Amino acid sequence: MENVVVIGGGPAGLSAAIYLARAGLSPLVFAGSPPGGQLTLTSEVENFPGHDSILGSELIEKMRKQAQRFGAKIVDENVFKVDFSKRPFEVFTDPVVPRSSSQDEGSLRRSLAQTTDFRKNFVSSLAVIIATGAKALWLNVPGEQELRGKGVSACATCDGFFFKDKVVAVVGGGDTAMEEALTLTKFAKKVYIIHRRDSFRASKIMQERVFANKKIEVIWNAQVVDVMGKTKVEGIKLKIKNEKLKMTIKNLKIDGLFVAIGHKPDTEIFASQVELDEKGYVYTSSRIAIEYIKNQISNSKMTNQNSKIFNIKKYNFDYQMMTSVPGVFAAGDCVDIYYRQAATAAGMGVAAALEVEKWLEENK
Ligand SMILES: Cc1cc2nc3c(=O)[nH]c(=O)nc-3n(C[C@H](O)[C@H](O)[C@H](O)COP(=O)(O)OP(=O)(O)OC[C@H]3O[C@@H](n4cnc5c(N)ncnc54)[C@H](O)[C@@H]3O)c2cc1C
Repeated sequence: MENVVVIGGGPAGLSAAIYLARAGLSPLVFAGSPPGGQLTLTSEVENFPGHDSILGSELIEKMRKQAQRFGAKIVDENVFKVDFSKRPFEVFTDPVVPRSSSQDEGSLRRSLAQTTDFRKNFVSSLAVIIATGAKALWLNVPGEQELRGKGVSACATCDGFFFKDKVVAVVGGGDTAMEEALTLTKFAKKVYIIHRRDSFRASKIMQERVFANKKIEVIWNAQVVDVMGKTKVEGIKLKIKNEKLKMTIKNLKIDGLFVAIGHKPDTEIFASQVELDEKGYVYTSSRIAIEYIKNQISNSKMTNQNSKIFNIKKYNFDYQMMTSVPGVFAAGDCVDIYYRQAATAAGMGVAAALEVEKWLEENK
């Protein structure tokens, strides 16, 4: 029986593990396969406190070693099923078995679920922290993945600094795209927003800020169909619909492309276990409290979705990081609809760990 299982080996999960291990709770971390999370996809990280500049993968390696030094057990396996319906909770991991080359992951899981062996790959735990992160959604056009980190990015706060006095483009039409564009105006000399429709779905206030900014130019009814450049981004090819609904192709010279079409939290396996929002982010007490207050202020009518959100009796407001299931906590990008930074994820991991410690004392 484990005291606490942490699911996720990025900054949130590993920061939680450091605190839990120092508190003597010997956490078991399932760090996923491949482990390390989003920071391993980037090169230099220049905004993590205490490091002028450090490789993302090196930062993660340091966090893992620090957690292990204090007694955390880290296993690089994926969790593929959880049962939070009763305590102790059950966490099932991918069994390490040889897979025939013809077998896809889904069929492997289905066949394993029918064997008794699969039951060997589960642990019981008194508490769980979900820290499985989120993935940026990409356009999936030629050149995009090849030039990631070479001008293609999904994070203006992380990479905007590298585009001082350059020309960049942001793709998207929601609040995130507006925020990314406004952030980039602090560095770049010109910011295009490429949007596939003729209006934004972003909030009115964000749109007003964008339209008032002289550095920003919107290209409406346009889709990026190609990212051009050999060793770095040199431009994009756009397919633009004109007033007569005719398609034209235009090349736009830019130095950087920021894709801001959304994130997808890695939370499918928790869908029937804890409450998630419509995009899959895990609800914690603090988010529910904010949503509740926002709704009170705007005094809007409750929609069906909102009435589900405001099932506040399921939440314990003494624990900000606790989910709708007492004893199950969540931290990092799988929760965070606002910031999605390594330092904020780490901070949420720390808060979750401190709450687990307190909760276990009261609920042994
Ligand atoms: C290209 C890029 C560059 C970035 N640059 C910066 C930067 O410069 N500065 C900055 O502050 N932020 C940066 N970020 C954002 C930062 O990486 C994230 O905010 C941060 O990593 C979130 O931490 P997390 O622990 O919540 O999630 P993640 O880092 O996403 O970690 C999630 C972990 O969960 C594991 N996992 C997922 N599913 C399962 C499962 N079923 N079972 C077990 N484990 C699972 C994954 O393997 C991983 O270990 C960048 C992001 C990207 C994509």
